[in-house]
Amino acid sequence: MTPAADHDLALREALVATARQLDAQGLNRGSTGNLSVRASTNGITNGSADATAEGGAMASFWVTPTGMPASELGAGDLVRMGLDGQVIQGAWAPSTEWPFHRAIYAARADLQAVVHLHSPHATALACLRRGLPAFHYMVAVAGGDSVPCTPYHLFGTQALSKAVAAAFADRNACLMANHGLVAAGTSLAHAAKVAVEIEALCGIYLQALAVGEPILLSGAQMAEVIERFRSYGASRRV
Ligand SMILES: [Zn+2]
Repeated sequence: MTPAADHDLALREALVATARQLDAQGLNRGSTGNLSVRASTNGITNGSADATAEGGAMASFWVTPTGMPASELGAGDLVRMGLDGQVIQGAWAPSTEWPFHRAIYAARADLQAVVHLHSPHATALACLRRGLPAFHYMVAVAGGDSVPCTPYHLFGTQALSKAVAAAFADRNACLMANHGLVAAGTSLAHAAKVAVEIEALCGIYLQALAVGEPILLSGAQMAEVIERFRSYGASRRV
């Protein structure tokens, strides 16, 4: 194996493990979901391929290949893409949904990983073209007092990427109409945690809606939660 092929091996193995965990939880059926993680810019042995006009390393990310179930996925199957949308490394075609992964990394330098799922409850809510309002304090896990649902656009399109990037301007998750869930985080574990929590909240919201109209928390009440989550941040890394 060449040094270049070893690049980010631990990170790629962590991505595969996360994909398998989500699969085991029934959230990532077959090959419908896709994950990515921002590639490190150190440890690159053939730096010329990564040089930019500014002299720094070009930002890139590892994404799951298209059509490959998590059960068959290995670290060597991941595709490394630049933020210019070009494949840098990998034998397989990237997930057809790579454009919104790229858009999130381009829009938010703080986000390191993206998880996309067609998980049942989030997708059901997305098919109603409804997001999550402040019906439960944990909605703040996505960074605000709601989780928006973007308008419908065909998967893999720039139009969908733009809508997702707009939603991520001030959130770490969104639903995509008639499609599914996207969550991101400052690490793979954080992105997966946000995705799993939003999926659970969508299930609870749908159950509550089946009985009546949930009572929403006020802006002040949600601001209090968001502030509390921020102060937890330093000592509760995920
Ligand atoms: Zn999808």
